Amino acid sequence: MKCHNCGGELEKVNTDLPFKIRQNSIVILKKLPVLQCANCNEYLIEDPVMEKIDESLDKISSSTELEILNYAV
Ligand SMILES: [Zn+2]
Repeated sequence: MKCHNCGGELEKVNTDLPFKIRQNSIVILKKLPVLQCANCNEYLIEDPVMEKIDESLDKISSSTELEILNYAV
């Protein structure tokens, strides 16, 4: 796959990304498999991974301000 930003090659990497799910809630997902551009650092999350992220974020309680999760494959 090519980077939509610069046309560079995308590489599979594991990274940690923060997701803001509500006004005061942030979830950090660790070891997330993403496709990252070696050239410009733009990244892309594949659909099956995004679905699993959504499922994980749905389980976060509404009183949580900060949660750190391990993305397990
Ligand atoms: Zn790029």
